[in-house]
Amino acid sequence: MFEGLTQKFQQIFDRLGRRGVLTEADVDAALREIRLALLEADVHYTVVRDFLARVRERAVGAEVLRSLTPAQQVVKIVYEELVKTLGSPAPLHLAGSPPHGVMLVGLQGSGKTTTAAKLALRMRKAGQRPLLVAADVYRPAAIDQLELLGKQLNIPVYREGPEANPVDIARRAMRFARDHGHTLVILDTAGRLHIDEEMMAELEAIRAAIRPEEILLVVDAMTGQDAVRAAEAFHRRLSLTGLILTKLDGDARGGAAISIRAVTGVPIKFIGVGEKPDQLEPFQPERLASRILG
Ligand code: GDP
Repeated sequence: MFEGLTQKFQQIFDRLGRRGVLTEADVDAALREIRLALLEADVHYTVVRDFLARVRERAVGAEVLRSLTPAQQVVKIVYEELVKTLGSPAPLHLAGSPPHGVMLVGLQGSGKTTTAAKLALRMRKAGQRPLLVAADVYRPAAIDQLELLGKQLNIPVYREGPEANPVDIARRAMRFARDHGHTLVILDTAGRLHIDEEMMAELEAIRAAIRPEEILLVVDAMTGQDAVRAAEAFHRRLSLTGLILTKLDGDARGGAAISIRAVTGVPIKFIGVGEKPDQLEPFQPERLASRILG
């Protein structure tokens, strides 16, 4: 693993002359490469700075500098610290008695509707009886999209007419779930192109009405720093319980994940790796760390 990075470090250390043992300056030269790699992967610079400070503290230890394979040692430390920063895998936290409420929030286009269906499928495989709820009344197309996905997967979708209020829909959907033996209610809420007060107030009202066990922010990994700003705003208003990072099958290296995780402190729970309903995976920090380091 990380042959590329290890080789790069080796070259740097070789170029520096490798006077038997490495110096702190040698390590700093190597860390400059990491800094560039992380910035290129779209990690926020303040997060990069804090991260590198932690790596440096460990890497300038005598046993690393005197080791026969300092390049590997430094890469190992970078990897370990990255995994730590990304956080542990976190399954859904469904406490209390069913039906459990899971609210998906996020900007339009982040992959919310697709992810709602993916999550329902995954949870049905785990033994739950999911109900999908179309609470995005502003975009009839989103309701139709969810209904279509539900049909394809044979998962019931709760919907009401366009004149219904999303808070009432959420409340009635919970009652419907209780009456029909559903154990899990997954709400696809409205997203906008930009965060606005009205949207946040509505999401707060839905949260207050149904008290979901999970409020998961769906973020598009391709959107970089915009995703970080969105995550901060949503977390401030809604106290998120988790993140789902979508479109990690694309070109995005996933650097936004480090920033979002560092900025909100909220665990990443799942990652989307394609458009198909079965392309949602539990988050594994080791795999994302490998991808970010390239
Ligand atoms: P919403 O507006 O947030 O509900 O977003 P949608 O669920 O409609 O998704 C927007 C687009 O992103 C659709 O074309 C989805 O197929 C696509 N999409 C969602 N998740 C993923 C993913 O993990 N990978 C890829 N490649 N595309 C995705």
